[in-house]
Amino acid sequence: MYIEYVSKPEELIDEQAGSAAITSHKGLFFINANDSDKTKPREVWTQGETEDNSCWFPTIDKPNQRMTEEIFMTIEKDFKTLSNGALLSSIDNKDGTRTDHWSMDLNIPPYLVMMTAGPYAVVKDSWHGKEVNYFVDKKYEKYAKDIFGNTPQMIELFSKLLKFPYPWNKYDQVVAHDYVSGAMENTTATLLGEFLQHTRRELIDNKFDNAEDDISHELFHHWFGDLVTCESWSNLTLNESFANYSEYLWRQYKYGADEADELLQKNGGEYINNTPTQHNLVDFYYKDREDVFDLISYNKGGCILHMLRSVVGDSAFFDALHLYLETNKFSPAEAPQLRLAFEKTTGQDLTWFFSEWYNNKGYPQFDIKHSYDSVKQQVTLEVNQTQDLSESTIFQMPVNVDIYCNGTKESHVVTLSKNRDKFVFNATVKPDWVDFDSQKMLLCVKNEDVHTNERIFEYNHAVKYLARYEALRSLASHISKPGARDVLIKALHDKFWYLRRYAINKLTDDTMPDFEAELRKMAVNDSSSMVRADAINVLAKNFKHDGSLSVMYKNALNDSSYSVETEGLSALAMVNKQVAMKYAHDLENSDEADLLLGIAGVYSQYGNDSNGDFFAKIADHVSGFEPQIVYVAVYGQFLKQRCTNNANISKGVDIIGSIYVHGSNRIAKFYARSALQQVVASYQDREGVLNEQITELQKNSPNDPKISTLQVSLSDDKAEEGKINDIIAQ
Ligand SMILES: [Zn+2]
Repeated sequence: MYIEYVSKPEELIDEQAGSAAITSHKGLFFINANDSDKTKPREVWTQGETEDNSCWFPTIDKPNQRMTEEIFMTIEKDFKTLSNGALLSSIDNKDGTRTDHWSMDLNIPPYLVMMTAGPYAVVKDSWHGKEVNYFVDKKYEKYAKDIFGNTPQMIELFSKLLKFPYPWNKYDQVVAHDYVSGAMENTTATLLGEFLQHTRRELIDNKFDNAEDDISHELFHHWFGDLVTCESWSNLTLNESFANYSEYLWRQYKYGADEADELLQKNGGEYINNTPTQHNLVDFYYKDREDVFDLISYNKGGCILHMLRSVVGDSAFFDALHLYLETNKFSPAEAPQLRLAFEKTTGQDLTWFFSEWYNNKGYPQFDIKHSYDSVKQQVTLEVNQTQDLSESTIFQMPVNVDIYCNGTKESHVVTLSKNRDKFVFNATVKPDWVDFDSQKMLLCVKNEDVHTNERIFEYNHAVKYLARYEALRSLASHISKPGARDVLIKALHDKFWYLRRYAINKLTDDTMPDFEAELRKMAVNDSSSMVRADAINVLAKNFKHDGSLSVMYKNALNDSSYSVETEGLSALAMVNKQVAMKYAHDLENSDEADLLLGIAGVYSQYGNDSNGDFFAKIADHVSGFEPQIVYVAVYGQFLKQRCTNNANISKGVDIIGSIYVHGSNRIAKFYARSALQQVVASYQDREGVLNEQITELQKNSPNDPKISTLQVSLSDDKAEEGKINDIIAQ
């Protein structure tokens, strides 16, 4: 049977909003179709998840469906195309167009069907003879392998861990403009937002946030999501928890346990701090299917997999995943099927784990304390669960407790089962450290009553990053206690850059000579650019400037890292404004957001009207979420403090006003409003001065021609002020 159809995604109407056209759920997107915008290429791309592909082809648009597919794309000859599966043919139509025929002969759900066309550069790579290609903007062609180059190694890692070789014919990744989401695991053709494109130099500062976490996430979906698919959106966590956890697996393998554990902590923290309304991990009661794409399905789900791995052990964990994939491949699955795979592998009944974590809400909150009875020679550990039981449950869980006495460690496993648990251990002397959850695997909030000496012992003896972090955090908040500061100073040499950074930023108000000496070394020699940048920042803010520091800041302007260069520029601005202004001017042609914002920061302090064009020029380069917030704030300061020319102010107000009225970045909008209000306030100040001058002249020399000049200025200012107030009122 054939269905002939025409799709008109641009004309789709949002049923809920009445007559409004669908903008982000129309499935098929034409970007810069008439080529009027010179800042971006012409592209076509699709986004199927959740049920948007039915906007451009007839299908039963549900995740529990499966289909093979063929796509023929006729495009202008110089465009590249990409879709699922294999490119079977490519025919020149002799009229300036070409028709590409793509085919996917394995079953996939409708939401993973994709196509795209654009003037991409294609950089080729491979894994065991399968093509692994990177489709990027031409400008980033020479950096494609810096961004994506670890993909074959990731495919190898995941294939081995799962004992299930990558099941598809090839793996492509394509970067799209104006993409409506972060990234999408379309089978064999992952689509990623342009935020992923970076130069080699930009990648120095932030390897993970910029690329690799996303790359491993989308790749792992090719087993969890694409091969075995959530049966319904209620079971979305069967896709997203695994993709989330794959970021941990890749970091652990490639960069070590500390980098992985830091991610686990960040993910758990984001979930706990930003989820005011809890729902079951498997959620049958959502209002809108898009609502389950949240920190519960992703972050909490990933943390739960990590706990499950800790509970059953590594080999059973990966064997169970293998069994789950083998049993359910090319089919939809629900959470009980995951449980069955784990039960079959381990021989254990894991109902308790799945009912607590998958079919329940919230997370445990613990009050923990321990005491030592020297007569009985016993340690008593008390663990109370304090979470709101109307919103959650009591969590049962085996937990490791390590007790350190006289230089030896004794390991125990206790089982939490009640809201008040008490455990007693024999110990001939008072322990140096009682390490609750020594695997640091629990997703929880802990309130631990621990003596400073024990925290000092913890930092000095802990292997795990999370224990060292826990110790430093506690010591930083009791910095005046004996020995606490010494540990933070010691942590400036921690093997993990993140903790060196943490220590620097906890000692921000410290001005002791030993700290300065360490900072000076770190600012120049630390292997991490983020640590070098922070060291410069704290040196410039805390310590007396001298010639050698000025030299250091100038040298920082030649650092391989943009972050260090940016901090060097800001530090220089505190020492010598002429030199800083000169460097700022020389660096204007960069297109790196942080550095441009550093320059903008210098101009907002020392610049004048002549720098107004710079602010306008960089607007497109600083449109990322965080850069835009800083941009709006410094631009506002510049307009208020350094600008006198109404035309310059007006241009700035237009740009900031447009972010305020049309932007989607809520925090940037907030700052934009406040920037506009500040500009209004500075107009009012100016008008006050003009009014006084006019009154004075009218009294003393009423025929002075200056009066009418001042009146014109006053009415100009009032007009500008009115314009800004109109924008704020929108
Ligand atoms: Zn995902």
